[in-house]
Amino acid sequence: MKSVLPQQRDELELKDKKPLYSAAEAKAEADRCLYCQDAPCIKACPTEIDIPTFIKKIATDNVRGSAKTIFEQNLLGYSCARVCPVEVLCVGACVYNAWHREPIQIGRLQRYATEKATQPGKPPLFTSAPPSGKKVALIGAGPASLACAGYLALQGHAAVIFEKRPYAGGLNTTGIAPYKLHAEDSLHEVEWVQSLGVEVKTGMELGKDIFGKDLLRDYDAVYLGVGLGEDTKLRIPGEEGDGIYGATAWIEAMKLTPTAGRKLGRVLVVGGGNTAIDVARECALLGATEVTMVYRRDAASMSGYHHEMEGARKEGVRLVTRATPVAFERDAQGKLTGLKVAVDGTEQVLPCDMVALAIGQSKMHAIAAEFPGVELDARGCIVADPTNGATGNAKVFSGGDCINGGKEVVNAVADGRNTARYLEQSWK
Ligand SMILES: Cc1cc2nc3c(=O)[nH]c(=O)nc-3n(C[C@H](O)[C@H](O)[C@H](O)COP(=O)(O)OP(=O)(O)OC[C@H]3O[C@@H](n4cnc5c(N)ncnc54)[C@H](O)[C@@H]3O)c2cc1C
Ligand code: SF4
Repeated sequence: MKSVLPQQRDELELKDKKPLYSAAEAKAEADRCLYCQDAPCIKACPTEIDIPTFIKKIATDNVRGSAKTIFEQNLLGYSCARVCPVEVLCVGACVYNAWHREPIQIGRLQRYATEKATQPGKPPLFTSAPPSGKKVALIGAGPASLACAGYLALQGHAAVIFEKRPYAGGLNTTGIAPYKLHAEDSLHEVEWVQSLGVEVKTGMELGKDIFGKDLLRDYDAVYLGVGLGEDTKLRIPGEEGDGIYGATAWIEAMKLTPTAGRKLGRVLVVGGGNTAIDVARECALLGATEVTMVYRRDAASMSGYHHEMEGARKEGVRLVTRATPVAFERDAQGKLTGLKVAVDGTEQVLPCDMVALAIGQSKMHAIAAEFPGVELDARGCIVADPTNGATGNAKVFSGGDCINGGKEVVNAVADGRNTARYLEQSWK
């Protein structure tokens, strides 16, 4: 997969912030774990990985065994190790925090075990069961579908993923900040899931190349792991024209196309969530002359993680709060020059050369329409039982961002795994 990505991409300028531990570092960190009996770190993990056990196995030089412990609960433990907000999940729950001591670096230990065990040429960790005769179609090749398909394949069920983009991996490939995970590392994980027996067909869009009625006829179950849709627009004057990008579209271009984001001047990022913080940090690290986040409420109301915002500040990102965008300003040639914002009853213009809009993504109405009985809630999310992914159509299951409105990779993985377990039980 590596060779199919363009060689000169902006994301490659952004280096890994938490590089792979050496064997000695991993052992030293693993030796610090207290193997708490009532381990709070396990409860804080949405996939409930047996953290003390996998750490113990690293401490005793059983790296493959450690990776197996992780993958049994979280098949995408490789990417989760790198992208999970561990500061508010497992690491945030580690007992060391209560003693004001450095918590165990669980994410970095998980990365060490999973990365070592899945390197090309390593013997397989798992053996799939013989074919069961059951077939599942999965729509979207993001973390939810990959986890579901991988666990199904291990149980001997045929799992075929249909992905509309040329690359699989979902937001792991197209959206995650490069200093956590580069696209080729996400594609490496996809290949590893494929090695378990999963088939991935890219360039296949539901509603265009494949249709719900055919899938319902040809498969025993259909899994919808389609994530969220296009970036939302502000719909204010001056928005049409160059210089204004949807945040996820900009990130995707920066990660996957040749040197798309070069020569960044003054950048404004509209929004206060994690996506806004990601774009702001990425632009700052790529050498933008100035990066300012524009948020309509006060800083305390921002939905982005505090530790990520602190990182952004250290990288030089400014924050303007209580500012509501009113109109974009352009010169006589149509070039973007500024964003007019209303701040506490007055108006001011923030000069800029580029704006990224990180104010949400649309929902997948067209997908639901393909399957009779599948409903959307008031937010436009697919209605599904969070414990097993069941929807209003007995053959259709769903999970990940398209049912929760946008959470984390680990939540999508938990959803996919739970549906696979449910189907396995119901087919016994
Ligand atoms: C910018 C950004 C940064 C993020 N950073 C982090 C982070 O650091 N850590 C973290 O844990 N989470 C992060 N997240 C959230 C995380 O990426 C998502 O929660 C997770 O990827 C959801 O997985 P999913 O499988 O539900 O959907 P997605 O990853 O969105 O995958 C859905 C897939 O479905 C495909 N698809 C859609 N419609 C169709 C169709 N009609 N036919 C075929 N295929 C279709 C899409 O192309 C896509 O590949 C971030 C999200 C964004 C937007
Ligand atoms: S809470 Fe911390 S010390 Fe206790 S088992 Fe988990 S990682 Fe180890």
